[in-house]
Order: sequence, then structure tokens, then C-alpha cells
Amino acid sequence: MNKSPVLPDSWFSTETVQARLMDPRGDLAERAIQIRRNPVSGRTSRIAFSRVNEKEAGVDRLPAPPPDADQTTRCPFCRPQVMTQTPQLIPQIHPDGRMRRGESLLFPNLFPYGAYSAVSLFDNTHFVEIGTAVESSYTDCLVNCADYLKRVHRHDPSAVHMAITQNHLPSAGGSMVHPHLQVHADRIGANHQRFLHERALAHRQACRRGLFSDYAAHEVRLRERYIGNTGPWVWMAAFAPEGFFEIWAVYPGTTSLLVLDESDWHHLAVGMIRVQRLYRSLNRNGYNFGLLAVETPQSALELRAVMVVRSNYAPWTRSDHTGFEVMLGDMATFTAPEETARLARAFWQ
Ligand SMILES: [Zn+2]
Repeated sequence: MNKSPVLPDSWFSTETVQARLMDPRGDLAERAIQIRRNPVSGRTSRIAFSRVNEKEAGVDRLPAPPPDADQTTRCPFCRPQVMTQTPQLIPQIHPDGRMRRGESLLFPNLFPYGAYSAVSLFDNTHFVEIGTAVESSYTDCLVNCADYLKRVHRHDPSAVHMAITQNHLPSAGGSMVHPHLQVHADRIGANHQRFLHERALAHRQACRRGLFSDYAAHEVRLRERYIGNTGPWVWMAAFAPEGFFEIWAVYPGTTSLLVLDESDWHHLAVGMIRVQRLYRSLNRNGYNFGLLAVETPQSALELRAVMVVRSNYAPWTRSDHTGFEVMLGDMATFTAPEETARLARAFWQ
């Protein structure tokens, strides 16, 4: 292994532009906007610092639980009706139809997004406030997802594009408040899987090293956005965020979800709940999580989990995706990633 390390600092480029305006009192004012280039994707994103003090609807306190937070009898994911109202796996994947691990229950997604699309419940708790989940429920659920993906891999080796995702609460795209993960496997990759796979391969061919291990090593050395570790996972605030309070966890040198053991998943679970506690401290209650892999022997794409917080639901709250994100393609957030890391470190002590 080449010891000369990591990505050059020049890959982490930040430029600041100043907007000049006459403020409402008639005085000349300047507003700084940082434009950062993501060293992995090459995409730019912006930190619009002046908006950080803007009054955002619904973040004075943690929002109240959703209206259906106690509607367990109407929820198809609650027991006992989960055993009759959810679909079952084909016998070629699992003869029992549903997979159990501890209290976690996994079954196919009734509304699939791809060839292999499953839902994995953490347990029978219908509503779990962000940051309060039991670690073992997350570990069991993640292991259940991995066991399902192993079975898919044996059944259909062409379905190499795999992912585990989470939409916590409807503000993050979740259709059910009952906490769960989504599990995906498909022959045809999604945009991020295809792009990252090619990008990681090009980096390995050029440097003989892993793109995300180089990225993580750079961040650990610099300490500006590095948060801490949980087991093998290295946690850091994203340098050029494409979501609010975006945090990454890299597992250096590992490209497959199928080789992780229970301890690896436990350590990921611990970090996920710590990040949830950070989001809760910011009075946010919805977030997305994602972990992608391309399960081929030659894949150079190391494991990297991503978490981003989403705008709270509140009457007439604004979406976190404006014309700037949707039409220009640059995400604009308001907090420096170095500040996100500083806030997150409190949950690593
Ligand atoms: Zn439920």
C-alpha cells in the first residue's frame, strides 16, 4: 500500500463570493456565500451563511408526534395485523415468507421500486421519536437487511446494485410512521450507484487506493469535519453538503454489504442513533439515511453511509429544495460543515 496519503488539499476547494447590496436602512452590506466542490462527485454546493439566522417555521421546539402516532390498530406494520396485511417473499428467497431477526421483521415492499425491494421493521414499536431508538433494534434490523441481500445475491447474482435506505417520517418521504428501513437490489444501478462505482474505479486505477478511504484519511488528518469513530466506521460532516447537516460514515477498505458481521452493523447503528440525537438537538425530527454498494468482485466503491436532516412538517413550512436546488442543481445550506461536526462531536463523548 502506498503510504503517501490521501487526497490533495486542492481537491477540497472552497471559494467565497460576496453579494453586495444596500440594506433596508440604506447602508452598504456584504453577504458571503461559500461555494464548495465535492471531491468525490465534482458537484458544487453552497453555504449561504446569511440565511442561518432566518426564522424557519417549526424549529422552535421538537415537533409534536404525528397525528397517527398512536393509531396502532390501523397500521399494517403493527402486530398482529402485520402478519396478514403485508406481502411475503417468494419461496426462492425465503421459505418462511418473512424474515425475522430479534424483533425485526422483513417482507417485500408492496409498492416496489426495483426488482428486489423489501421493508425491514425495527420492531413492533409504532412510533419512535428521533434519537430514542434502542441500539439493538437498529442492529437487528440492519442485520436482517444484510441477510435478505445475501439471499437475493444467491438467488439472482445479476442484482448487484444494492442499497439500504431510510425515510424517517413523512417529511423525509416516509409513507408510514412505523419505523423501518428499505432494502433494494437490482440489475440496473441507480444514478448514484453507477456514478460512484465508476468514480471509485477510476481512483483505484489512478492511485491504487480507495476513494473513500483516501477521503476519510484526509478528514481524520485535518480534524475540521471529523467527528469520531464507531468501531470501523469513520464519521465526518460532508465537506460540500447536498443536504442539511449532512454526515457521512465511511468503512475504509470494505466494498461489500454482504461481508459485514453483527459487530460492524452494531457500530453503524450506534452512530446512526448519535446522529439522530444531533438532529433532535436541532429540533428536527425527520431525516434520510442511505448506504449503497455494487456487489461485484471488482467493485472499488467502499461503503459510505449518508445522513441528512429534512425540513420539519409545520403549517406552510417551506421545502428544503427550492428553485436553486431543483433548477440550478446546487444545494444551498446555511451552516458550515465544520460547525456541523463541532455540534455532532458532543454526541460522541
Ligand atoms: Zn405500526
